[in-house]
This record gives sequence, C-alpha cells and structure tokens, in this order.
Amino acid sequence: MISELLRPNILRLTPYSSARDEFSGSASVLLDANESHSPLPSLPNGINRYPNPRNEELRQAIANLKNVDAANIFVGNGSDEAVDLLYRCFCNPQKDSALVFPPTYGMYGVCASINDVALLESPLNEQFEISQSDALEKLAQNPKLTFICNPNNPTGNVQAPEVIEDIIAKSKGIVVVDEAYIDFCPQHSVLPLIYRYKNLVVLQTLSKAWGMAGARIGLAFASKEIINVLNNVKFPYNVGKPSTELALQAISQTDAFAEFVKSTVAQRQNLASELALLPIVERVYPSLANFLLVNFTNSHIVYKYLLSKGIVVRDRSSQPLCNGCIRITVGSSTENEQLLTAFRVLNTQLYSNEKTTDN
Ligand SMILES: *Cc1c(COP(=O)(O)O)cnc(C)c1O
Repeated sequence: MISELLRPNILRLTPYSSARDEFSGSASVLLDANESHSPLPSLPNGINRYPNPRNEELRQAIANLKNVDAANIFVGNGSDEAVDLLYRCFCNPQKDSALVFPPTYGMYGVCASINDVALLESPLNEQFEISQSDALEKLAQNPKLTFICNPNNPTGNVQAPEVIEDIIAKSKGIVVVDEAYIDFCPQHSVLPLIYRYKNLVVLQTLSKAWGMAGARIGLAFASKEIINVLNNVKFPYNVGKPSTELALQAISQTDAFAEFVKSTVAQRQNLASELALLPIVERVYPSLANFLLVNFTNSHIVYKYLLSKGIVVRDRSSQPLCNGCIRITVGSSTENEQLLTAFRVLNTQLYSNEKTTDN
C-alpha cells in the first residue's frame, strides 16, 4: 500500500551501501572509508570516523523513551529533514500535491516549492480549528501528503483527536502530524496511532522542549515500511556524531526535562495573564506550546519598538487570520520580565501621546 504511494524512482532505488554495512564483526583495522586514522589534537576520540548510518544507539534510546519499536523511528538532521524527505519520497514534482491548514508552519510550503509540488490549502476557522467539511473536499483531490501541525505553530492550539484520526482514516495519502511542541502537552500525542494507520507519520524534535535546537535532531515515527524508505533515501551520515552523543545525554535527563516543561508552562500562564492586562493587547490566544500568539492594537509599532529595545519576536501579522498578531516565545523569567517592562513603557508612551493629541 505504501509502495503504491511512492514515486517510481524511489521504489526502484538501490540505496548507497558502505563497506562497513557489509561487515558485521568487530573490525580492528578500518581502511575502507578514506577516513583519518586519528583526530587532530584536543578533538574528541572517534570524530575521525563516520557515524553509524542507521544511528542505532540513539534510535534504541528514543524507542525506550517513547515506548515504540526502534524499527518505527527515523532520526533526521532536524525534523525539517523528514519534511523534505517525505516530499522527495512520495511527491512527483509538477504532478502531486500536498495539503496544509493555514496559518501554519512555513516549511511545509517551502519544501513543496523546492520540490515543485502544488500546495492545497484548507484554512483553519476563526477558532483555529480544522474545518472538517473543507478538509474532506481537499482530500478528495488526493494530496500525497497532508500536514497537521499539533499543537499548531503559530496559533498554539491543538485539533480534536477525532478530527485528526478522521483525516488519517480518510486520506489516501500520507498524513503527517507534526508534534514539535507535544512535550508541553503530551496527552495530545497521536504517536500510538502509528500502529493502527500505516499512512501516519508523527514528527517530533529535540529542538524545543529538549533544548537542543543547535544539535539538529528530528524524529519521525511511522510504520516500518515508511521508516525503511526514509532511511534508504536520507544521506548515509545525516546526523553527526557529536549531535548523537549530545542527544543521548539530553534524553537521559528526564527529571531536568520534566522540570523545564513544568516551569515553561507556568511561565507561559504568567506571561499570558500579564499581557492580557495591557491596553495595547487585544487578545492573547490560548496556547499549549512554549509560545503565545498575541493580537495587538498596533502590532507594527509594537514589533518595531521591541526591536529597538533589542527584543526579537516573530511578526505573524501577514499570515491568514493573524492580522495584528505577534508570536512570542516564553523565555526565562528574567527575559519575560524584560519583555513585560518594555510593554509597560510602550503602553504609557502610547496612552500619554493619545491624551496629548486628544487635548
Ligand atoms: C520548530 C518546529 C519544528 C522543528 O524543526 P527542527 O528541524 O526539528 O528543528 C518542526 N515543526 C514545527 C511546527 C516547528 O515549529
């Protein structure tokens, strides 16, 4: 069934094979890969060698952490790698399409353009929910890939689980549920559904709650058939050894991770209630992630003011349904205080200006 969805060239592919793939003992003399026999001084042991192309140790550690089988896990150079690979494996350029639910994460559309794949759009409603009837109409055009971002970036909300499952069940193509922010609301994960639906891919990442954006470690979970394809198409050494080693260190720190998630959620709630008190704020949208989408009376002035104070936030006002909206990441308590102080100063400035002009 998955094979019918694949591009014919991918179905026919003979993957790259290294000499070490062909040897399964413990070798003591490695003269097969044109590596250096030793690293330069002060560099870590083993950095002179190519990494394990299947990343088995990290996949097993993630399997234990997530309670799934290692055969159902792909480790990528960020989850963005998995997004691009899915296009390359399943979408014939200039022929196939992909479906997204805007406003949402921009990379789905960028990767569609790069791969010359048409993008179908089913806009979210005013509550940022998927419109089921519109989604079904778009699914009738048989998109090869459908991307549901859950929680959604930039809106921060989740979709009802029955809506997600209905789309997975009714799609004739692959449905990708991007759970980049799921660590902040794990009860909403659809990960266990990979054992029920062969066309489901769940994306997660170590870039957000695990605090490893610089290491570039993304995860895809799916049926063995899909994972095998991704592993055959990816670059053989897509994830560097230092990143893999740091990822193993990170995911062993489950207590510190839980503490970070808990404090971020508390900081988010505090930031949301403080922002809601400011007259320049029209609305703070509810969020289950580590950011808030905030509607301002004049987002352009707010954005420029924050920049002048050295505070960078994400202007989302050009996105559908996001007119006047800025996305703000929940920072440390000190950073959040700095942000709130800047807002309070701006508030006073704007309101005293208004009074002078009124008089
Ligand atoms: C941040 C983010 C990612 C993470 O991408 P990586 O390549 O793993 O760093 C994926 N999807 C969404 C929606 C995001 O916001």
